[in-house]
Amino acid sequence: MVVYEIRAPLWPEKTASFTSKEMKKTGSRMRDCRFCVLAEEPLVESKTGLRILKAKYPYIPQHCILAPRDHVLALHKITKKQFDDIFMMTGEMIQNFQHATALWNFGVVGGQTLKHLHIHLICSNVQESKYAQLKSAENLIADPLSLPILVESGLPVIGNGYDTAFSSRIHKNDLYDFTKNTITQLFDGFFHLVQSRMYDKVHKYGYNYHNLERLTWLYGVSADNLNDIDFLISNMVTAGLGINLMISECNKDTFKIHIMPRATSVSPTETLSKRIAGLELFHQTILTRTKLAPDIEIEWEESQGEFYKQAQKLLNHYS
Ligand SMILES: [Zn+2]
Repeated sequence: MVVYEIRAPLWPEKTASFTSKEMKKTGSRMRDCRFCVLAEEPLVESKTGLRILKAKYPYIPQHCILAPRDHVLALHKITKKQFDDIFMMTGEMIQNFQHATALWNFGVVGGQTLKHLHIHLICSNVQESKYAQLKSAENLIADPLSLPILVESGLPVIGNGYDTAFSSRIHKNDLYDFTKNTITQLFDGFFHLVQSRMYDKVHKYGYNYHNLERLTWLYGVSADNLNDIDFLISNMVTAGLGINLMISECNKDTFKIHIMPRATSVSPTETLSKRIAGLELFHQTILTRTKLAPDIEIEWEESQGEFYKQAQKLLNHYS
């Protein structure tokens, strides 16, 4: 596997406010949630309450975040109109910026550190960026369980080894059902996996997989009856399952979506920030926060400013 290392400015260390017990609610907003309490105005705020935000921890200068204005934690809590707008706005970004990728992470093991739903829009070719360099970092983010989960879910698999994902081209009208059904199916597969022949192997090989015991209370529950997507997702997270959903192409009315289930903790030898950053970029990349040379830092800020302007102009008609 080819692994890229990205050098990005040294921002304050990322903290997992995901686990904060001190979140206080003020209306639909949380006082300790970064996406609820913003120091700066969003680039765009849509009529349906979606915001395009500057990424606080960008991987490359062309990086922003799409998030609902309200503190929404689960997919089924956003309206159908919001759901559609999320994909329409994402689609416009992907069509407008070459090599743009949208990345939606669910669960800690999926690389999600902030619970407030959000999508990373990374609007340039990370691998060809001057901030990236090739690294040989085998096994950095190994997830040997992604393939068995897909197989048990009955979903067709692309790739092999560490690049295992389920990939599909979906018409915009079918996105909602597709997302809902696929996540249900993955949960089902995950469920079968831990109850089936893999259970012994999971234990045998370790896999850094530490939450199996939490699943025991779910044994015997039919996944067919688990229609509530919030229930599914929160249980996936509790049980240690995460999901990466990536949109890499959008042509007119269709989206190319890759979905990868994740159940394995990443290499324990890496620092937390590196591991999380790696997961966020679909485990092909590690991120190093460093002090950039002054001229590179100026270039970074200039291209970032330019990108923000373009993004704002492109999506302004939603506001
Ligand atoms: Zn929030």
